[in-house]
Amino acid sequence: MNNVRIENVKVILTAPGGIDLVVVKIETNKQGLYGLGCATFTQRIYAVKSAIEHYLKPFLVGKDPSRIEDIWHSANVSGYWRNGPIMNNALSGVDMALWDLKGKIAELPVYELLGGKCRDGVALYRHVDGSDETQVEQNARRLMDEGYQYLRVQMGMYGGSGTEDTRLIASVISRATNIQAKRSPENRQEGVYFDPEAYAKSIEHLFAHLRSKLGYNIELIHDVHERVAPIEAVRLAKKLEPYHLFYLEDPTSPENLDWIEMIRQQTSTPIAMGELFTNVNEWKPLISNRHIDFIRAHVSAIGGITPAKKLAIFGEFYGVRTAWHGPGDISPVGVAANLHLSISTPNFGIQEWTPLNEQLHTVFPGCPIVRNGYAYVNDRPGLGIDIIEEEAANYPVQGTIPTWTLARTPDGTSAKP
Ligand code: MG
Repeated sequence: MNNVRIENVKVILTAPGGIDLVVVKIETNKQGLYGLGCATFTQRIYAVKSAIEHYLKPFLVGKDPSRIEDIWHSANVSGYWRNGPIMNNALSGVDMALWDLKGKIAELPVYELLGGKCRDGVALYRHVDGSDETQVEQNARRLMDEGYQYLRVQMGMYGGSGTEDTRLIASVISRATNIQAKRSPENRQEGVYFDPEAYAKSIEHLFAHLRSKLGYNIELIHDVHERVAPIEAVRLAKKLEPYHLFYLEDPTSPENLDWIEMIRQQTSTPIAMGELFTNVNEWKPLISNRHIDFIRAHVSAIGGITPAKKLAIFGEFYGVRTAWHGPGDISPVGVAANLHLSISTPNFGIQEWTPLNEQLHTVFPGCPIVRNGYAYVNDRPGLGIDIIEEEAANYPVQGTIPTWTLARTPDGTSAKP
């Protein structure tokens, strides 16, 4: 890689799927040689853009892009304070772009640089929701017919009404058991309301229904989304044990991690944690004490491929598998990074999948392809994905705060979303 130098760092904001995305493009002194990375923190796009343009770009211009480890470490400490989501996403955009560049220079896909394929396709899970047990079952059957063997099942999103129409707070949460959400006091504030206790009670009945109708030849996941009190999470994990979950996700918030040990002591329901972690060190006690089974990292929130690969290897030594976070607020570049990691990780568990629409495929040529429940990356050098900037400009970002994060419990108390 001699003589290759970073010449420019661009930030591209675009929303082809209706969700604000942040993509980093590192240009070099070699004509047509550039790398792409995902720096999407969709709720704070302008803060990440500013961090890259004002701090990382001046730090990077003139440097040799082959020195990924050195750049990652020196950039990470360059502001002295570190491990926050804004700077980590900014750094992730740079890190992924450097891996993309390294692959292009070596003329190898990134998964080859990470150790090569451990499998030929990446098993995916899709999201299933519904307003009652029967609707969830019907939607699950549709995806099973498409070939998916793993499903995340929710009822009313994360225990709410399944809609942002706040008038529905007192609606029935579980039709089969007539579990209803609590009433609110007068003059309550705007927000997305949910009832933690009614939700927790309804989920046991959802799983009883699904197992009786769908059987056990489908792997089921459920995301608590940190929406119940810690002791309620202990009770829920125990109650769900007979239904053989693939895993129960985020049973507690990051602020209540000490409760995970109690869940572990009381049930063999597998646990996945960590999409909200922004410091890889947060996983250390959970993995080394074998308190969790799956690493749920949002790769761009922890700083990119470099820390994610180390975290996966750390998990391998303790029998903990990966389940990289894969919601819609990741650019296809980040989706590709997830898949290059997943396909080359021996202790891979499962990959979350959000379908990419036609517009995303147009803006980002080379998007991964899905067939029969598996994703396939292409074999082009680097991450194998490009961006057409003129097309990206057709989808301007909004830069607004989403309403789903403004969660409240029935009496109007602000809650973790
Ligand atoms: Mg989650």
